[in-house]
Amino acid sequence: MKIARFGNGQVGVVVGDDLVDVTDAAGVDPAEWPPVGPNRLIADFDQRREAIEAAVATGARIPLAEARLLTPVPWPNKVIAYPVNYHDHGREMQAGYRADVQGFFLKPPSSLSGPEDAVELPALPNREVHHESELAIVIGKGGRDIARENWAEHVFGYACLLDMVVRGREERVFRKAYDTFCPVGPWITTADEVDDPTQLEMRLWVGDELRQHANTRDLVLDIPGMVAMASTVMTLHPGDIIATGTPAGVGPVVDGDVIRIAIDQLGEMSVPVRQGTRGNTEVFANAYTPDIIKQR
Ligand code: MN
Repeated sequence: MKIARFGNGQVGVVVGDDLVDVTDAAGVDPAEWPPVGPNRLIADFDQRREAIEAAVATGARIPLAEARLLTPVPWPNKVIAYPVNYHDHGREMQAGYRADVQGFFLKPPSSLSGPEDAVELPALPNREVHHESELAIVIGKGGRDIARENWAEHVFGYACLLDMVVRGREERVFRKAYDTFCPVGPWITTADEVDDPTQLEMRLWVGDELRQHANTRDLVLDIPGMVAMASTVMTLHPGDIIATGTPAGVGPVVDGDVIRIAIDQLGEMSVPVRQGTRGNTEVFANAYTPDIIKQR
């Protein structure tokens, strides 16, 4: 099932080029604050699945092109992100470590934005903001100390994710925390509809230029390992998001760019980039240009 959030917080299931509104069957109140309906839906999905499928069969269809899609889980307990999790990206960044021996960092849930929301570039003269193309894992059943071999029981689904970042040597979280620095979408594809998450082609373009192209088989710390490692430290909750890391080809975006990310079986999203006027801080007073070694 492809589960989207749209409009004012309604929930829809994607059927071909249409969206069917299943908000009531999903048990989601779009006006609820904080907007944790999607978390509850994920937690209770097995019990609600039949009602949702019935709603899909009879519900009114809206052309997808007419719906404004929103970030699928706007209020997760946490967004976990694995740095340097493809060897070619490690080489281009000249990083002496990989995610399997480095662990994860967190992105604030407030950085999440939707597939149709613009990335707002902070006003930082002399700094580059880079795209990172990533597979997102959405946690279903929560838990602590999840064994590698049990990873699949805890994964609800997958989506495309952009881990936007101000390049520099300051705190990684600080550089990745701006509002709109974590677009997720276009929807969640439930795990049962993904043949093999370890064999997904992922591509990212800026305009017409293909900048990143990789396959999830090249992840250093694999999906079972990421679930196990995160849950060794923290209790995972339904709706938690894991950003799995980016391959080589990261680079700057500027005002007017459109970032397109596509992952096999999960869909694609085209995210516009706008230069904002906010966000300058003394932390980024010094100029920094990343020394990226292009990978073949
Ligand atoms: Mn990343």
